[in-house]
Amino acid sequence: MYKRIGVLAVVILLLFSVLSPAAAQVQTGLTVSESAAQIDFPLKLNFGAKVTSDADVTDVRLRYKTEQFSYADVTSEALIEFVPARTVDAKWSFELRKIGGLPPGTNLEYWWLAKNARGETVETRPTPLQFNDNRYRFRSLSQGKITIFWYDGNDSFSRALMDTAQNALVRLGKDTGASLERPVKIYIYSGARDLQGAMVFPQEWTGGVAYSQFSIIGIGIAPSQLAWGQGAMTHELAHIVFFQMTVNPYNEPPVWLNEGFAMYAEGALAPEYTNQLARALATNSLFSVRSLSSPFSAFTEQSLQSYAQSYSLVDFLIRQYGSAKMLELLNTFRRGSGYDEAFRKVYNFDMDGLDAQWRNFAKAQYGQIR
Ligand SMILES: [Zn+2]
Repeated sequence: MYKRIGVLAVVILLLFSVLSPAAAQVQTGLTVSESAAQIDFPLKLNFGAKVTSDADVTDVRLRYKTEQFSYADVTSEALIEFVPARTVDAKWSFELRKIGGLPPGTNLEYWWLAKNARGETVETRPTPLQFNDNRYRFRSLSQGKITIFWYDGNDSFSRALMDTAQNALVRLGKDTGASLERPVKIYIYSGARDLQGAMVFPQEWTGGVAYSQFSIIGIGIAPSQLAWGQGAMTHELAHIVFFQMTVNPYNEPPVWLNEGFAMYAEGALAPEYTNQLARALATNSLFSVRSLSSPFSAFTEQSLQSYAQSYSLVDFLIRQYGSAKMLELLNTFRRGSGYDEAFRKVYNFDMDGLDAQWRNFAKAQYGQIR
């Protein structure tokens, strides 16, 4: 029995070696060597290789793939420009401005294809590459599905952030049934300016960003801002949990549910938010649940109120109907459900019904403030 498996393994290995690019190189006399990639973070990835043949090299391409959540297996291809010759120095720069940049720590794979004048071809094996921000000397701390990368601050700084992240996951699991399905990498920069240096199109207000499709978070937290940073990091982590729990090719869940979920993960609502809720109740100017389903206004006061209401809506659903229903709601959105259908199915009311019930809850909760 063991012997037969051994023979089978050898046969498979032989087949692989016959079919593999390395063997093809020997057969055709067309070779790719000195393949290398150099990272110019965050703007460029520079690739190079030497292609040689006993006939003119006529076609060289670089193929690459980034590891991210996607419903299609996407491979990109760059056609290399050169003058046909027996030895070609192939060079190509991946200009990340064109795709809006890549998050730090993105995993890629790349490989080369070449052809000569006789029509012979060669394809190299994929080489893994990690798009690391080599401007800083990151250290790392891993626990469960989370790895924190940081360079400023001591071990107790990263430990405190890790404990916060783990506690947030436990609380989310208990209150909503949601959990991380894929590992997450969290890059802690020592402030907003350093973080913005990691982006190709930074906005002045960017202090933290969740690259949900990549399961990567970038956030600026100076060691002196730990308390603020714990909340901000938890917020972004919750967005990634929410994405992993609800992603589907058809429909995105309402914005208020995503933002409310992230606010809820942070813990109790800060006074600036509760005061805004009290003001909106007193002046009868609460936003409708429907209007909160689309992206929020950028005006500070309206934005504050949108986040506050989102928190309170999620808080209401969890308190009133429990974690099993919340998990059912997330699972329903994962199947691409429309908004009213999802709420009717799980809670027996649509978004207007939710609006009416929640207003009473909000009055009781925040109507007495001020
Ligand atoms: Zn958010």
